[in-house]
Amino acid sequence: MKSWSERDFEYIWHPCSQMKDYETLPPIVIDRGDGIYLYDTDGKRYVDVISSWWCNLLGHCNPVISGAVKKQIDELEHVIFANFSNKRAIELCEKLISVIPSGLKKFNFSDNGSASVECALKMSFQFHRQTGSPQKQRFMALTDAYHGETIGALSVGGCDLYSEIYKPMLMDILRIQAPDCFRCPYEKCRESCGCECFEHAQKMFEKYGKETCALIVEPLLQGSAGMKIYPPLYLKKLRECCDAYNIHLIADEIATGYGRTGKMFAFEHAGVSPDIMCLSKGLTGGYMPMSLTITTQEIYDAFYADYNSGKTFMHSHTYSGNPLACAAANAVLDILSDGTVLDNARENAIYFNKIIKEKFLAHKNVGEVRSIGLINAIELVKNRRNKEPFSPTLRIGYQIYKKALQKGVILRPLGDVIYFNPPLIIGKKDMDFVTDVAFECLKDVLES
Ligand SMILES: *Cc1c(COP(=O)(O)O)cnc(C)c1O
Repeated sequence: MKSWSERDFEYIWHPCSQMKDYETLPPIVIDRGDGIYLYDTDGKRYVDVISSWWCNLLGHCNPVISGAVKKQIDELEHVIFANFSNKRAIELCEKLISVIPSGLKKFNFSDNGSASVECALKMSFQFHRQTGSPQKQRFMALTDAYHGETIGALSVGGCDLYSEIYKPMLMDILRIQAPDCFRCPYEKCRESCGCECFEHAQKMFEKYGKETCALIVEPLLQGSAGMKIYPPLYLKKLRECCDAYNIHLIADEIATGYGRTGKMFAFEHAGVSPDIMCLSKGLTGGYMPMSLTITTQEIYDAFYADYNSGKTFMHSHTYSGNPLACAAANAVLDILSDGTVLDNARENAIYFNKIIKEKFLAHKNVGEVRSIGLINAIELVKNRRNKEPFSPTLRIGYQIYKKALQKGVILRPLGDVIYFNPPLIIGKKDMDFVTDVAFECLKDVLES
């Protein structure tokens, strides 16, 4: 009899994976989840310190969310969302309206993060056509950005690792040099700088503002780029320029939303609002694929006209507004509503960052420890003084990942950036455990 792992390997082409790697690191088949733990088919326990690709917010098999989905599944599993609706979707909007940045009023439903980005791009493009600025057809985005994998989302993304090969298929994007606080060319630090690096963005607005319909940005945290963190002031400046040039500011809060940065949404740190906000990942607590593209009354109104005017947003997804996903999303907001989970997470974040600094900072290959909310990243370098990176072919991060798996911790680094992005409910004991394991593995790999 073949093992589950062998049976998987026979059929499944896993995401973002070189399948040949699976010869030496076979797929780990997970049987069940409980809180921040996952258990494989042999009963081995793993701490899910990356929230199963950043989406698990409140633990696996959370009884409240599970209960809400179970209840819903016996009432209504799905219904067409054009001309029809469902109670759970309506409730979700009513709940969200009081927690999202001000000015956002209308909700468009899709079923994954990339789809919500596509929706945002199309919405902005069409808005400008219908409001007397048809010359505005281009998009601005930052270097090292990540917005998903579909063609539009991949176009605005700026990580060569994912997009390089597809360049001939992609849109031509106006690329703004993103802040790089670890290797700041102005030799400032992110806690006290005046965003001197914004001068590049400023020039791009001056040169291309007239032809640009929207700028999309991951607020404060460029996740896939290696958890690169930049100051809120940069977002404020983007908001000012977008206003000055009649450009929509699209907040991709897919990874940063739902308390990951210490506030419900990362944009709150900057005290400004986007024109369009994309949500997914934490939205359903990691239970069901769902996303939202939330926008202003002004954008909505530009599409609100007689059907024959041609102003309709002819955009849809089969699973838009799925009631099971909405039931999960409502349960998540119910759990978060009294603020206890976020307060605890904020308090634990201080402890987490403290022990990570204590354990890692002195190591000769640790270039930087950076954190926002419970997210902590450790950037490994070959040479601390000149911040020279390791050769990527050494795959240092991947080696650490493999060692940590043996010890029951799921780290999955981004290149040579090891990071922790745990469910908000992680406790101190588990923080101690995962940081001990990560440090042991780091030493194992770098000092052998
Ligand atoms: C994950 C992610 C996406 C894409 O979401 P998918 O559901 O994987 O398509 C887009 N933007 C950001 C910032 C993300 O982290």
